[in-house]
Order: sequence, then C-alpha cells, then structure tokens
Amino acid sequence: MKDVLEGKTILIGKEPEKGRLLIGVKGMTKAITMGQIGSVPNSVSRCKPAEGIAHCQIEIDQAGNMTLTNMKAQNVTYVNDVEIMSKRIDATSTIMLGKDKFDINVMEILNAVQQILRGNSGGTGGTGNAGPYSIKHLKDTWDDYNGSIKKIRIRQRNIGLLASIPFSLTMIGGALIAFVPEIQSFAKIFTGVAAIVMLYGFYKRSTDKSIEEIEQLKDKFQDRYVCPNPKCHHYLGEWPYKILRQNKNCQYCKCQWTEE
Ligand SMILES: [Zn+2]
Repeated sequence: MKDVLEGKTILIGKEPEKGRLLIGVKGMTKAITMGQIGSVPNSVSRCKPAEGIAHCQIEIDQAGNMTLTNMKAQNVTYVNDVEIMSKRIDATSTIMLGKDKFDINVMEILNAVQQILRGNSGGTGGTGNAGPYSIKHLKDTWDDYNGSIKKIRIRQRNIGLLASIPFSLTMIGGALIAFVPEIQSFAKIFTGVAAIVMLYGFYKRSTDKSIEEIEQLKDKFQDRYVCPNPKCHHYLGEWPYKILRQNKNCQYCKCQWTEE
C-alpha cells in the first residue's frame, strides 16, 4: 500500500474555517478533513495545502521511510511524547500537535492520503493513477507462460516415468526366472533391456534443462506480466489472467483496467 505514497509530502494542520483536522498532499488541491467541527485546538497551526502551509508535514521517500517535520518555529510537535523539529517515524509512532497535545493517528492519515490520491484518478493531478489501461495483451503473456511451464512439467513427468521402467523390467525378469526356470535365457533379456533403459534414463536426466528453462521463463514473465500503467509497471504475480480481469484494477497503483 505504501507504493502510491512514495515520494509524497503529506501536509497536516487545522482546517481554517471549521477547525477540523485537515490532511493534504503537497502539490494537490484536494484535501480531506477528519473529526468533528471545532475539534482541533487553537494551538495547532492551520493547514492550507494549496499554499504549502501546515502545522507539520510527513515526507515519504522512495524507500517508504517517513519523516515528520514541524513547519514553523512557533509550532510544537511531539513524537512519542518528545518535542521534535524533524524526526523519522513509523506507523506506530504517537504524534501530538500543539501545546494541547492533540494526537493524530499515522495510519488514519496514510489512509486519508490514499483516498486523496485515489480521488484524483481522473488523471489531472499527475499522480500515476490515470487510466483506464488495457490489460488485453496480458492474456497472451499468461497463456504463453502457462503453456510453456505445462510442457516442461509433462517432460519432467515422462523422465520420471522412464526411471521407473528398469525397475519393473527387472521385477518381471526376476519373477520369470523364479516361476518358469525353463525360460531363463528369455528372462535375461528383460534384465538387459532394463539396463539399457536405465542408462538412457540417466542420460535424459543429466541433459534435462527443465529447471533452468523454468527459471528463464519466470524471469521473462516477471518483466512482462506487469501493470499496464507506465507509472506503475508493478509485477502482478502468478495470478491467472481471468483473475486479473475480475479485479478490474491494479492493487498497487489502483488504476482502472479494461479489456478494450
Ligand atoms: Zn498499477
């Protein structure tokens, strides 16, 4: 879920008119309010996302690390009850704003930001959530991959079967010698054939490249079976195409998919 948040700066403060908590994203006009009207004390500074003004901000880097920064010297911001100017935080950190120690929940804020980003899926904000994107070409990618893997598995099974033949032939040969001693020389043929098949089986197994081939196929598949949104391109996992078309959107960037 962090994927869409990477590289974003979250602005947090008091809603100017109605005194609710206001959450915005730097560079975006859409914002979300949380809590009751007038619930945020005056010791929390106002947030105006369009002007980049806030009580504090959370920057999320490309690795998903979050840094909380107090925006103005006259503001007070606490992390785990210690006053800070700038501090690395995680989802479990306790954050309080202003000398009244108004506490905010990191997870709730991240969820609100995801809503803001999702709400912008019309494609005007340049958040990477535009669409819809066609996933039609992924059907061939899936079918090719799945078909090739199936062929290799069948080959592996046949080599496995080949290995069991010598044993069966030796058993039959042994049984013939035990019960019908008169045809001993005939029974020896079974043992001879068994030896040949066994050698052939060894040869087949030693030259079989199934494991390497599967690895190569997987590698290629992981490069191609990705979200069609150029800003996402996230590998979609070994989910059959029919599951993708049921989902209708990317679980990583939330962009819409079509089969057009
Ligand atoms: Zn995506």
